[in-house]
Amino acid sequence: AKVYLNGEILDAADARISVFDRGFIFGDGIYEVMARIRGRFFYREAHMERLRTCLEKIDISLDVSSLETEILTLLSASGLEEADCLLYIQVTRGVAPRQHSYPAGIQPTVMMYAWPKTLPDINHTPVAVVLQKDFRWSRCDIKMTSLLGNVMANEFAKSHNCYETVFERDGIITEASHSNVFFVKNDVVHTHPANHLILDGITRQVVLELCKSLSIEVQLQGIPASQILEMDEAFLTGTSTQITPISTVDGKTVYPESMGPVTRRLQEAFLELKFR
Ligand code: PLP
Repeated sequence: AKVYLNGEILDAADARISVFDRGFIFGDGIYEVMARIRGRFFYREAHMERLRTCLEKIDISLDVSSLETEILTLLSASGLEEADCLLYIQVTRGVAPRQHSYPAGIQPTVMMYAWPKTLPDINHTPVAVVLQKDFRWSRCDIKMTSLLGNVMANEFAKSHNCYETVFERDGIITEASHSNVFFVKNDVVHTHPANHLILDGITRQVVLELCKSLSIEVQLQGIPASQILEMDEAFLTGTSTQITPISTVDGKTVYPESMGPVTRRLQEAFLELKFR
């Protein structure tokens, strides 16, 4: 595979970073993942804007727009211009002697790679999830490379034969280890507001836009974990998760059939957006 590293396109095996890179030492960096579908990136501008604001939040200065042409160069070097693929972008603070605070003017390390991936048109098969206390920090709005909490949570899900761990904080459902969570009750869609307790997913934003255009009522409010089993439908959203229905939470059925009608409508509208 080809890798873009600080202005160069290299074979992955030849790409080298310093062991003193703060991404390696501290997880001091931001990342982004976006999907290329039928020759264009899905909501590229929203992803690049989130990358820009996250970098700003942690005081890494980089002209994100300069990456646009580099991305196309990488795709062409990877032979993926025409292919459906996923693109990973990572910007770490750069290399410096190990110290928590960082020197002024430090040069960020930029790494990107893409790999072929065709996402299903619609995710028909509902997934099982487990609940776990949200033990992460309280700046979940930052899409940072230090993902240990998310890694532990997703491994917990895997060990329970589940696709995702859904987090609850102070009794309220926030999000999942690598996706956002939605519930439907009496045709009203509920999801946690975009604040410091969740990552404001691009797919989440797209689904909220779709609710608006389909005149589906939305309540931006986290659902109490104690009410989860009273919900009519539940689904996850994310770049590779897309819109995936939830079948069971902690082994208990949330929605008895294969898919709820609101989830279905949103999935169909989402599919149209992808292929428009
Ligand atoms: N929440 C978390 C913690 C995530 O890691 C992700 C994606 O990686 C999401 C939500 C979904 O975000 P997006 O729809 O932009 O992929």
